[in-house]
Amino acid sequence: MSSNAKRELEARKEQMLSLHLVGRGIRDAAVLRAMREVPRESFLPAGLELLAYEDGPLPIQEGQTISQPYIVAYMIEALELQGTEKVLEIGTGSGYAAAVLSLCAAQVFTVERLPSLAHLAAERLRELGYSNVAVRLGDGTLGWQEHAPYDAIVVTAGAPGVPEELELQLAPGGRLVIPVGPTPHLQDLVRVRRDKEGALHREALCGVRFVPLIGAQGWED
Ligand code: SAM
Repeated sequence: MSSNAKRELEARKEQMLSLHLVGRGIRDAAVLRAMREVPRESFLPAGLELLAYEDGPLPIQEGQTISQPYIVAYMIEALELQGTEKVLEIGTGSGYAAAVLSLCAAQVFTVERLPSLAHLAAERLRELGYSNVAVRLGDGTLGWQEHAPYDAIVVTAGAPGVPEELELQLAPGGRLVIPVGPTPHLQDLVRVRRDKEGALHREALCGVRFVPLIGAQGWED
């Protein structure tokens, strides 16, 4: 990429941060810092780099999407991270949200069901130096039992309901953020908290549109 194009991207990134993140209410300093630091252009298919800081989702391989920057920031802010947590992400996709998470938490475990996306994201995250992220190929509706429980879980695909297995893998005091809706492409973003006594509490945050979560405790393929 030419140095002119790099300068242009930096300017667009600053605009995205002030207009679409701070301007729309994102306040968590660690989230804003991570959104500034992670190069979203490096997670896009060739040819789309200059669109990296537009306020919208973009297509990636396998008919999937990289989420809108505002939604990535909003969901991570909703996890209320302090920097010391073990986080599980379901739906690795491009690896972008995992990279942002890796700068806001201690450890990130991320699961993707499509082999080509899982491999590409793992390689990209390694090359870019996000060494506290582990990628696994599998059905994320079943979580990643081996490393449970998690202080925070974020699901970046829309589910018909909250997968019971993910609730089981949430630590006391933990937060789970997930799009849930009655049709595969329209959801409410829901936050589930497990209190210190183990009880679960649900709240709806906002309306969202995600690709479907497909798996044993998600939609059928
Ligand atoms: N977080 C991603 C990023 O930053 O690029 C965006 C994720 S994209 C909106 C949703 C992803 O969830 C897709 O890559 C899709 O293949 C994946 N997915 C859908 N169902 C899944 C499941 N049961 N387990 C793991 N990944 C799943």
